[in-house]
Amino acid sequence: MESTMKEMRGGESVLDMDPKSTVGGGVEDVYGEDCATEDQLLTPWTYSVASGYSLLRDPHHNKGLAFTETERDSHYLRGLLPPTVVTQQLQEKKLMASIRKYQVPLQKYMAMMELQERNERLFYKLLIDNVEELLPVVYTPTVGEACQKYGSIFRRPQGLYISLKEKGKVLDVLKNWPERSIQVIVVTDGERILGLGDLGCQGMGIPVGKLSLYTALGGVRPSACLPVTVDVGTNNEALLKDEFYIGLKQRRATGQEYADLLHEFMTAVKQNYGEKVLIQFEDFANHNAFTLLAKYGTTHLVFNDDIQGTASVVLAGVVAALKLIGGTLADHRFLFLGAGEAGTGIAELIALEMSKQTKAPLEETRKKIWLVDSKGLIVSSRKDSLQHFKKPWAHEHEPVKNLLGAVQAIKPTVLIGSSGVGRTFTKEIIETVASFNEKPLIMALSNPTSQSECTAEEAYTWSQGRAIFASGSPFDPFEYNGKLFVPGQANNAYIFPGFGLGLVISGAIRVHDDMLLAASEALAKQVSEENYDKGLIYPPFSNIRKISANIAANVAAKAYELGVATRLPRPVNLLKYAESCMYSPVYRSFR
Ligand code: NAD
Repeated sequence: MESTMKEMRGGESVLDMDPKSTVGGGVEDVYGEDCATEDQLLTPWTYSVASGYSLLRDPHHNKGLAFTETERDSHYLRGLLPPTVVTQQLQEKKLMASIRKYQVPLQKYMAMMELQERNERLFYKLLIDNVEELLPVVYTPTVGEACQKYGSIFRRPQGLYISLKEKGKVLDVLKNWPERSIQVIVVTDGERILGLGDLGCQGMGIPVGKLSLYTALGGVRPSACLPVTVDVGTNNEALLKDEFYIGLKQRRATGQEYADLLHEFMTAVKQNYGEKVLIQFEDFANHNAFTLLAKYGTTHLVFNDDIQGTASVVLAGVVAALKLIGGTLADHRFLFLGAGEAGTGIAELIALEMSKQTKAPLEETRKKIWLVDSKGLIVSSRKDSLQHFKKPWAHEHEPVKNLLGAVQAIKPTVLIGSSGVGRTFTKEIIETVASFNEKPLIMALSNPTSQSECTAEEAYTWSQGRAIFASGSPFDPFEYNGKLFVPGQANNAYIFPGFGLGLVISGAIRVHDDMLLAASEALAKQVSEENYDKGLIYPPFSNIRKISANIAANVAAKAYELGVATRLPRPVNLLKYAESCMYSPVYRSFR
């Protein structure tokens, strides 16, 4: 009994706890009616020791053929398994071989999901040990296709669905989730899933995938992660007409109706799990993403990976690149193509870091950064017609209609693509940037590969091997004039898992921009001389657990410094502490 409870509560035995204690600040109903007032509605949870057939069906504890002889005796498994006993390593080898046999990425995805539902620890062992190979399977790009077909591949619920039907009952819905001590929630409303648009309720694949990375890359316990899809309808005509669509068949609620459901959700989360639960907004459309982040940033622990995570990973790349291109951040002029969530988020964080370094006001450092959107350079004469998040970038300048004109006028030392439109860094543009920079920094961030502003080959060739290049989608190394260039990938997965771990281990109650800067700084420091020699401005992804631990330690240190950390006393060595908190997928022994 106790071991099962310990698992449920993340290692802390319920029996050791003060019955009046709260976990994460919210009163728990784990003691059932003892704690309830008469008018309070309860979910009648019971906890029991899993054994026999039910143990094999329990993904948190199932080990399949790796159950030892002793465990088979003590947990009534004799005869339910074939006689052989194997190691977790052998199971991993066998499963990797069978996953590699699938030619179609979606089949690999489904095999991984099926494993997650059958044997959670083995799923994470595979993902951690084969991270570079399996990341594109459980996350982008394959997860995009999985979301498009989520209705037909949907087997079992992997997260919590909160729809307009649950209005007024969201707290009760949260209580239906079997895990009690939630630390990280990833929530989407499905309106802008990757570059695929409105997928409504089928967006659930995104929070599920993202949280599996929180565990695999950042070491947050799986039982502490909660994927949520808020279903307010969809404007996707094909889904509305699809008889098998799993979500609400109505057009998207907007305005007050939308805001009310989101507000009820945000309030219920804090009521149920307390101040310290991290709520990550994921794949919300622009108009809601900025509003939600601003609205809840002062009352909740919220983070938007598309805006803040992207900003932090790109800033890390720019900071690391300074070693190769020279100068300080403030010595450079930045030009962005694309002024959406990614572009404006990155621009703001770069300006903030510049302001910290030079002690110049933010309004001044912003002037070193220029953005081009679909209507041309963002300048002061356009201010009245600009969306609010573009206004800070409307500097004094005569109108410029296109990117080439902007490149010629601004003469950027750093060119960043974040428009989602491919092939926009043409030969002429790269040659122009290279004409006034010894080593131009070119970041083509748009995804997927087909939408990248240019390829690695183009950046290196058109700049005669002088560009420092990184991209959003991966590109193979490229040899130019006998030298091998390895393009870096500005993958958000470098930042958000370690960032989240840092918040969790410090018990942070608010996200502060300085913590994003701390994350960038930690990531930039992980780039070695050997990496720089190949033109890399990001460290190899294979070291991601170590990278995440370093980011977590730096973020936690900043949380303590800012007075928003509640886990007291502060651990002396935060790096060691972060490492010690990280989830390990190795099987536990059962008595
Ligand atoms: P978004 O829709 O919020 O913003 C896109 C912006 O580009 C808008 O301002 C739009 O006006 C502008 N735009 C569109 N067409 C244009 C054109 N032809 N010329 C100039 N500007 C144009 O999208 P987002 O979330 O900011 O993402 C943009 C791109 O960045 C996507 O392709 C996304 O995959 C990529 N991205 C990469 C990373 C990463 O590399 N880590 C992270 C996040 C986003």
